[in-house]
Amino acid sequence: KPLLQVEDLHVYREGNQILSGVDINVYPGEVVGVLGRNGAGKSTLAYSIMGLPQYLPSKGTITFDGQDITDWSITDRAKAGITLAWQHPARYEGISVQEYLGLSKPGARVEELAEALRLVQLEESYLARKVDKALSGGERKRIELASVYLMRPKLAILDEPDSGVDLLALVDIMELFRRMVREGSSVLIITHREDVAAQCSRSYLVCKGHVILEGSAEAVKRYFMSQCEPCADTSPDLV
Ligand code: ADP
Ligand code: MG
Ligand code: MG
Repeated sequence: KPLLQVEDLHVYREGNQILSGVDINVYPGEVVGVLGRNGAGKSTLAYSIMGLPQYLPSKGTITFDGQDITDWSITDRAKAGITLAWQHPARYEGISVQEYLGLSKPGARVEELAEALRLVQLEESYLARKVDKALSGGERKRIELASVYLMRPKLAILDEPDSGVDLLALVDIMELFRRMVREGSSVLIITHREDVAAQCSRSYLVCKGHVILEGSAEAVKRYFMSQCEPCADTSPDLV
């Protein structure tokens, strides 16, 4: 039984149809990729699953953990176990990294916070740093990933987790996601990188608001690299 089931999702923004009947499943313990070029509708899908008010679907349903959450608030979805790591993380200017991570797991011991930082290749000394402009985009992104890890969500949605993170090697973040799975989470990775999608258990290829292919990460990767330019003219029955 899927943990997350997105069925026939239609989302409009300011009169434009952004998602046109998207179907996606995430089963417990999966790391699922959503691959697509810039503008395909990936972030829109993430916001819609998280329940941002402007992204409520005009048609279609979202089922999570056996419940129809299509009309639920962000807060209720978060309580149910869905977490979204934003493509461009909010800054929480001024609070310390330790305080920021503590928000993800109230009552956590300092050692647990340090361990989460270690998993994203940051030293414990970062706990004392302030979340501000002195952190690089890559450092902030790693800290965001550490915070998602600490939350132990049932479903972690990661919007371009590698963006701006030159130094955080792909193998390291994939290892973090596998570890999250071992500790009970499922992971939905949104990416424009075929090498990231190729590391997932399964991937969906999204193009102009449609899922045009679902399959093994390798099949999606091959298709993406060879056939998907421009996506508009691709036929969905090639693979
Ligand atoms: P991706 O994350 O795959 O790059 P997005 O979901 O951010 O794609 O955007 C998908 C499409 O929706 C793009 O063409 C974008 O220009 C359009 N779009 C996004 N937000 C809005 C909005 N508020 N109003 C109108 N169009 C939007
Ligand atoms: Mg984009
Ligand atoms: Mg995006």
